[in-house]
Amino acid sequence: MNTIQKISVMIPFHDEKDNLPILIDGLQKELLQTGKKYEILLIDDGSLDTYLPSIQHFVNSDTIQLIKLNRQMGKGKALAEGIIHASGDAILFMDADLQDDPADISSFIKKIESGYDFVNGHRYTRKDNSIIKLYSLTARWFLHNYLHSPFTDINCGFKMFRKQILEDVALYGNNFRFLPLAAFYEGYRVGEVHVENKPRIHGKSKYGIDKLFVGLIDMLSAYFLYKFAEKPLHFFGGVGAILFGIGGLALAWVTYERIFMGVLLYRRPALLYAIFLVILGIQIIMTGIIGELIVYLHNKKKI
Ligand code: UDP
Ligand code: MG
Repeated sequence: MNTIQKISVMIPFHDEKDNLPILIDGLQKELLQTGKKYEILLIDDGSLDTYLPSIQHFVNSDTIQLIKLNRQMGKGKALAEGIIHASGDAILFMDADLQDDPADISSFIKKIESGYDFVNGHRYTRKDNSIIKLYSLTARWFLHNYLHSPFTDINCGFKMFRKQILEDVALYGNNFRFLPLAAFYEGYRVGEVHVENKPRIHGKSKYGIDKLFVGLIDMLSAYFLYKFAEKPLHFFGGVGAILFGIGGLALAWVTYERIFMGVLLYRRPALLYAIFLVILGIQIIMTGIIGELIVYLHNKKKI
């Protein structure tokens, strides 16, 4: 029952001309050795280089498909597009830059076949610079403590999972980074395998330092979605109540001083701040109530 019938390998790429032929060659050799049926889906995320002549002879074979996006839409969109065309029961995500080693595929297969639904790579020999490493450590700490993540290296792009999980876990926008966590929350059995991580030799990384910023936003949205999507008032209510409370106290203080100490209100900027905080607090609480209403109506429809 746990045996994988067919592996669909997803390779999103943008300007990876020098890497693609080496990758496809290595991948094919490795996949043949596994004895499984397989397909390789190369998803061209709006590449501007002339990569086609170097891989044309591969693409004509029936196990390798080339899917082209009209323009650069991002890795997440490329992966989502690839999944639409995937026919295997196991999906493997892999980067095109030769940083992931096809030799590790057999460990993924073994782990999935031993009963796991989602297996994420863990790069134990990371080739990132120290800023990224520090960021990853902080992110891991946050994910462990606040999102109960069981993963050591959630950002590792090398991963394999049973296609069936996509019935419960939506892949959209940038959330491919949090797919392992989403699978975990949906009750799937998740695990990790150690994978090799080689330095990039050809081409440039597609992400600069802005990757850290995007990662932070993604982490916050994951935090919000997984913690509060079903109970938005817990989040908005808390924030709103704090602001409302501070504003209310300040108002009470200003009023007390006006009545009992004769401090004239036109000289009190604190009055303006207090009113502002009270209104802001109410607005935020109202947003939470509207959120609750949406969740309620959505679930009512389902029943
Ligand atoms: N990639 C893509 N579209 C993008 C950015 C990246 O298809 O907009 C691909 C890229 O070609 C590579 C993979 O996603 O195959 C990972 O990108 P990269 O190696 O640049 O990321 P890093 O390893 O530096 O995080
Ligand atoms: Mg890379």
